[in-house]
Parts: sequence; C-alpha cells; structure tokens
Amino acid sequence: MSELTPITVAYGDGIGPEIMEATLRILTAAGARIAPERIEIGEKVYLSGNTSGIPDEAWESIRRTKVLLKAPITTPYGGGYKSINVTMRNALGLYANVRPCIAYHPFVRTLFPTLNVVIVRENEEDLYAGIEYRQTAQVVQTLKIISRPGCEKIIRYAFEYAMNNGRKKVSVFLKDNIMKMSDGLFREVFDEVKVEYPEIETDSYIIDIGAAKLATAPERFDVIVCENLYGDIISDIAAEMTGSVGLAGSANIGNQCAMFEAIHGSAPDIAGQGIANPSGILLGAVMMLVHIGQNDIASKVHNAWLRTIEDGNHTVDIFRMGLSKAKLTTHQFSNEVIENLGKEPVKLIPVKYAAGNTRKSNIQDSDLHYTHPTKDLVGIDVFFDWNKGTAREFGDTINALSTDQLVLQMVSNRGAKVWPDGFAETFCTDHWRARFKCPDDVKSLPYSAVLDLMHRLVGAGYYVIKTENLYFFDGKPGYTRAQGQ
Ligand code: NAD
Repeated sequence: MSELTPITVAYGDGIGPEIMEATLRILTAAGARIAPERIEIGEKVYLSGNTSGIPDEAWESIRRTKVLLKAPITTPYGGGYKSINVTMRNALGLYANVRPCIAYHPFVRTLFPTLNVVIVRENEEDLYAGIEYRQTAQVVQTLKIISRPGCEKIIRYAFEYAMNNGRKKVSVFLKDNIMKMSDGLFREVFDEVKVEYPEIETDSYIIDIGAAKLATAPERFDVIVCENLYGDIISDIAAEMTGSVGLAGSANIGNQCAMFEAIHGSAPDIAGQGIANPSGILLGAVMMLVHIGQNDIASKVHNAWLRTIEDGNHTVDIFRMGLSKAKLTTHQFSNEVIENLGKEPVKLIPVKYAAGNTRKSNIQDSDLHYTHPTKDLVGIDVFFDWNKGTAREFGDTINALSTDQLVLQMVSNRGAKVWPDGFAETFCTDHWRARFKCPDDVKSLPYSAVLDLMHRLVGAGYYVIKTENLYFFDGKPGYTRAQGQ
C-alpha cells in the first residue's frame, strides 16, 4: 500500500461537522491516500477565552502536515475575536486565494450559464493588513499596503495556474486611475510578468466596469487576478452567480502550507438539520488532492460529483421542481457521489487532472525580481489635528513657519487642495495635510531639516498627528499630488 499523506482537518462550526463528515466519507470511499488528523478550532475555542480561536496544538498539527482541510468557522460578534481565516493567511504566508466559480447549466439553475472563471485573489496585503488608526475627533484611517513582491507572487501564481489548468486568458482587475501608486504598481508588475507567458492572452479592466462585465458577459473571462479586497467581493458575487454559494471550493496557497475550504460560512440557520450542501468543501478537498499530488483521486471524486449534479440528485439549496430529480439530505447526497465513483458526467465536461504536472505550483522568493533604486529625501507631509478656523487661516499661519530647507507648498483636506487657492465649497474636516518641500535646487535633505521644522510647528502650538517622508526614487517622485494641485 502506498504511503498516506497526513492532513490536518478542522470540522468547524454550524454546518461544518455535517459537510466535513460527508466529504471525508467520499474521500475514503474514493481511496484517497490521506491520514486525517483532527484539530479543534473556532467557536468553542474562542468562547473558552482564546481570542485567536486556534490553540497551540492546532498550530503544531497544521505546521507539521502543512495541509489543512477546514470547514467554516463561526466568529462570535464582539469580544475582540480575530478572524481565523485572516490569522491563518497571514501567519502561514498563504498568499494566493484561488476560487473557481463555474455554472453547471442546465443542471443547476443560474442566470449565467456561461460562467466559468477562476478568481485568483491576493491574500495577505491591501486594506486587509489591518493597520488602522483614529487620528482626530472626526477622522480614522486604514492603510492600504501593496508590495512589489506581493504583486509579483500573486500575478506569477495566476499565470502559472492558467498554464497548469489549461486556462487561456488572465485578466487583471484594478483601480489604478484613482490609486495610481498602489494599483499602479499592481498593473506595472502585471505588464512585466505577462510577457513571460506569450501563450496566455491578457487584458485589464478598471474594477467597477470589470465587475459589471463579469455580471453581464462572464464568457469574456477565464482567470481573473486582483488585490485582496476586490477579489473578496467579486469572488463571492461570482460564486453566487453559479446558482448557490454552497457550490464553490477555495484554496489558500503558500510556499510552505496550504488551506482548503468552502467559500461559504457556517450557515447557522440550517445547522443540525442534515440538509447542507457539502459540495463547496468537497471541491475544496479536490483542490487539496491535486495539491498533494493525488490527481487520480481528485479526478475520480470530481467526476463522480459532476455526475451526481447532472443526474439531478440535489441538496435543498439547488433543488428546483422540474429540474432536479431528488431532494437529498447531506448524507444521501454523499451516498450518491460514492455510488458514482468511477463514473463520468455525460453532458458536463469531465475533468482530468493530469498526472505529474511539470510546472511549479507555487512561487518561491528566488523567482522574484527586486529593484534597488536610489532614494532621496525631498520633503515631508505633516498631518495636523486642527479645528480653529478656515483653510486660508490654517495655510497662512503654517506657511509662516516654513524653514529655508522646507517650504510649504500646499495644504489639503481629505486629499483635496485647499491652500493656496482652494475653493470655499470644499468641505473641510479637522484632519489637515501640509506639504513642505525642499527648494528645487536641493536634491536631497538631511533628516535634521525635518526635525527643525517639527520643533517650529510643535513649538508654535500645533498638534502634529503624523508625518510621511517625501522621497524621490531614481530621481522620480515617490508620492502623488493632491487633487486640484
Ligand atoms: P453563510 O455563507 O454561512 O450563509 C449564507 C446563506 O447561504 C445562508 O442562508 C445559508 O443557509 C446558505 N448556505 C451557506 N452554505 C450553504 C451550504 N453549504 N448549503 C446550503 N446552504 C448554504 O454566511 P453568513 O450567514 O453571513 O455567515 C455565518 C457565519 O459564518 C458567520 O459567523 C461568519 O463569520 C462565518 N463565515 C465563515 C467563513 C469561513 O470560515 N471561511 C466564511 C464566511 C462566513
């Protein structure tokens, strides 16, 4: 008998235990060469006082087996409980979230019969870094962090995924007309990487129109790669477009560990009734089997599942009178899949996960390209908490505190320029940004110039919240202008 691969299994909360049990029965019947190791994470652990929801012994198992099959978890409201998903993605470096969203027309009712897309979502960065501050009485801030290695890892992963899975096109969704630096970097890296994959067609969409096109002409898309927040939103929409959120599986891939799950939550409204659809976690498990190299079993399980769907044997969420043959419980549905092991669908296209994929399935640090630009300090943005008058009064008094090396250039409020020459119509909060720049003939400032300015501003009674250094990289500005500047 060939060796068993240890995997860690979390049964989760709500419908989690029901759908996990059904999935493991199917995997066992299919002959999956796995040795599941059960851990306890989630609601019970949270409520025992562990705010991460993951005890030490669970971490130990996951870091040893490096593969986690996870049923959905209920995060209790309030009490400062941290999302297990976000914690795991960050702690284990699971940078790629892969979500295939496929319509099974005409066997599952959907308004989008041609939908067949895989969303590859960046999983570690963006607004999900969770770096947030309250800065004034009126203003809070969340930092959007986008790194070049982060972009390169996810974009390369998307192209490698397309090559490995017979996909023809990779589209990027972004908002670089507004976020010129962060989303601009994502586009820059996409344009650099795409030339290495001439076999793959590419295109790009601003996220708003891209999402609209996905909802009206999904046949345009094959693989979509995007940053964390955009991917989170469009993948849930795309999964729902297939006919049920209960149908989609998801993989979270890192260089060392990987986690596989359904995209839906713990569905407390139907928990304990034995009627949940186990398809999402089952298709997550199929992705896991491919990840651990058991492509033969992955194909067997996936085809048996397609055949079950095609035969009209459906759980309640996708059951439709006249379309479905039988309304099954979770257990009955898994029995049908087990009955169909070894069969293929007749009308839906059977899957075949090729044995021995030669392409790499993850992106190592050594694959990435780093640049080493020169960096010169040319100014500083100073953020103030101030509510004592108009923009003109603020700008004029701050201007008088300029030094020889740092001269006030402009003041903005929520990104809109309000000094000099602002509009009276611009609404101003108590959160101000003043941009001090070095004179044009100075190419690089010592940091002492910033400290001198700070002494003058604070000495004059101003409340400085924070500062951002302004740099030139290789002689080009590493910051944006204010709107209206
Ligand atoms: P949900 O996905 O659990 O449920 C949304 C709706 O879809 C419900 O009506 C539910 O009955 C139905 N549904 C979901 N999965 C189904 C399935 N397999 N079969 C049949 N019907 C199904 O979303 P929610 O209600 O917003 O969240 C419930 C809990 O799940 C929350 O505590 C949330 O934090 C958690 N959650 C966890 C994960 C995860 O662990 N990956 C993801 C999302 C939400």
